[in-house]
Amino acid sequence: MIPLSIPFLSGNELRYVSECIETGWVSTAGGFVARFEEAVAAYSGARRAVAVSSGTAALHSALVLLGIKAGDEVLVPTVTFIATPNAVKYVGAEPVFTDCDDRLNMDPAKVRRFCEEECSFDGKSLVNRRSGNNVRAVMPVHIFGHPVDMEPLMETAERYNLFVIEDATESLGSKYTSGRYSGRMTGTIGHVGCYSFNGNKIMTTGGGGMLVTDDEELSSRAKYLTTQAKDDEVYSVHEEIGYNYRMTNVEAAVGVAQLERLDEFIGIKRANFELYRTILGKEGLSLLVEPSYGFSNYWFYSLVTEKPSRDELLRTLAREGIQARPLWRLNHLQKPYLYNQSYSIERAPYWYERVINLPCSVGITEEEIREVCGVIREQGKS
Ligand SMILES: *Cc1c(COP(=O)(O)O)cnc(C)c1O
Repeated sequence: MIPLSIPFLSGNELRYVSECIETGWVSTAGGFVARFEEAVAAYSGARRAVAVSSGTAALHSALVLLGIKAGDEVLVPTVTFIATPNAVKYVGAEPVFTDCDDRLNMDPAKVRRFCEEECSFDGKSLVNRRSGNNVRAVMPVHIFGHPVDMEPLMETAERYNLFVIEDATESLGSKYTSGRYSGRMTGTIGHVGCYSFNGNKIMTTGGGGMLVTDDEELSSRAKYLTTQAKDDEVYSVHEEIGYNYRMTNVEAAVGVAQLERLDEFIGIKRANFELYRTILGKEGLSLLVEPSYGFSNYWFYSLVTEKPSRDELLRTLAREGIQARPLWRLNHLQKPYLYNQSYSIERAPYWYERVINLPCSVGITEEEIREVCGVIREQGKS
């Protein structure tokens, strides 16, 4: 069995977790949480980082922190894991679905066009003419690790007074190599960035997330709201409704150890991508590559196949014990979102029918990659 993406735990994880158990600091107090927050802030280049219980909790908290509320609308891509639009619903707001570009990322040109042609703007608020609601924010997702084209997107956000929450849950370590954001990491361009350390991500804490921002007031408030909004320790005074979104010390201990090796993981990911690309290229097959303006952590390897062979190939791979996955069902077609607005979605269905993600664990061997490619080659002949 060759899994899609499993954790790689061969550094200091055991040592740090043992330290938690030996000292009794296994819950939400203890030194590793702050240490992990500082390490992620230093790694990403954001001024502050706040650890939370999941990437989804980070997305939800970000929306709460920026004051997005019932009756507001938020632009989200239709190509993303459903956690992105779900977080918008958690605060009572409505997602408006947008199309992707040829790297599966939110198309900034269409976001611009939506603001210009579908909304009215009075210099302060952007109002969706169809619903009469305020459009307050945009949530780009760096799909499979490939950086979104943030330059035009930020221009639109600045022009129309929109908050930008980056769903960088898949792209820790990805960055920009040219243009206005050259040298900056994904997750640090918008007002708030969200990372995930779920078990299938490039690095894991078992389950966990992180919110990053340069706004110190926002980060203090993030800490407050995600730790039950406690105003007095002793008398348990709460002036607001908070959340129990705390990361545990054990999770953070795993995170500190994983982050020590993240750059090494990314190096392996990129080398394995090249191996897949070289072998499959000889069969005339292509994989999605990083954009010219950025560096990808290559979390996932997306093979582009032609329908109807996608489902046949998925079945064949499954039969051979190889775990592969198509894209998520497009969110504007998911049951909870059938009645939400979607804008100019044209390219997403094309990509939905063609992409298969191949096994990409950091620990995958060259032999396993050759085996996967062999199965794909045989399928192509039949
Ligand atoms: C993984 C993921 C999330 C959610 O992260 P969790 O830590 O699993 O809650 C959100 N958005 C996207 C795009 C993801 O891939």
